[in-house]
Amino acid sequence: MGTPNPPQRILVTGGAGYIGSHACLRLVETGHSVVGLDDFSRGHPGAFRAIAAAAEELPGSFTSVEASIGDRRGCAEILREHDIDLVMHFAALAYVGESVEQPLRYYDNNTGGAISLLEAMMDAGVERFVFSSTCATYGEPGADRIPIAEDCPQAPINPYGNSKFMVEQVLFDHAEACRLADKPFAFAALRYFNVAGSDPKTRIGEDHRPETHLIPICLEVAAGRRERLMIFGDDYDTEDGTCIRDYVHVCDLIDAHIAVMNQLAPGDTHTLNVGLGHGWSVHQVLEACRAVTGKAIPESISPRRAGDPPKLYANSSRIRDDFGWSPQFTELEATVATAWAWMQANPSGYAD
Ligand code: UDP
Repeated sequence: MGTPNPPQRILVTGGAGYIGSHACLRLVETGHSVVGLDDFSRGHPGAFRAIAAAAEELPGSFTSVEASIGDRRGCAEILREHDIDLVMHFAALAYVGESVEQPLRYYDNNTGGAISLLEAMMDAGVERFVFSSTCATYGEPGADRIPIAEDCPQAPINPYGNSKFMVEQVLFDHAEACRLADKPFAFAALRYFNVAGSDPKTRIGEDHRPETHLIPICLEVAAGRRERLMIFGDDYDTEDGTCIRDYVHVCDLIDAHIAVMNQLAPGDTHTLNVGLGHGWSVHQVLEACRAVTGKAIPESISPRRAGDPPKLYANSSRIRDDFGWSPQFTELEATVATAWAWMQANPSGYAD
């Protein structure tokens, strides 16, 4: 299995959010010392409580701090105090519609916040950065670009995607400046496709307010908390007329981060798609949710949602070939089952 990876001290921003909380838990599970940072604008104190409780039985350690990524001085202090080796940066606003309505807020938080965090890292001498980017940076690639590889031109079509794309550009420029100044800096930007599922042991899970994602919405209908699923268009140019997306399990996504972290060398500048490499349609997702829950899950067809391309799925060869990543959750029903188990164990999500 090669040489074991030494434990590291990792700052996880957005650690109380959906993906960040899974990163904290998995890192603690694999023996690392984790500091979870969140301002609780979107994250849940309950997620930190759950991780802290789980950490007592796990090989690594967990500490949480309430702070904003925009507070350069405060973040530099946290980085120094905990002698952090690497930052995994998940803290971000992530509603496309909201980003169209409040672009300044998205650029300020997602782009400005990341810059402030990078400045804090410079202040504290932290040289490694793993960034939560998105396939939304590709915009609406033409059919000839599917599956999407990393060299697909990036042309975001909303402020959310653009706010993340800008961070990637900042990272390349910053890495180049560090290289010229002989200062080590390395980053990896992981471009996620659709992320789904929860910790299989139901210690933490997905709790977005409001919820806009397909799988949790189907499950909320199954749980009787919504009346029906509205399918946003069934007249797309796909086999069953509904949109196709690439749903990667959140635990596999985090394992991708850990694989990259373990191999991130000074000067590295990686961009990496994380997805399964094929997609499922909205109808297929709905059927999987029906099969897992045993519930009818009524549906109706509503108009297309603005900015939804018919097909988005990844060519994820780069992270597979270069970092040895391979997803464990390859069956949609297995992914949905973890989300359903968490929802059943926590019918009102986090209690906060
Ligand atoms: N979708 C839908 N009804 C919903 C939510 C989503 O038909 O209530 C569709 C959406 O149009 C897209 C797919 O499900 O084709 C995945 O949407 P989601 O918001 O989960 O992720 P996105 O692909 O937008 O990041």
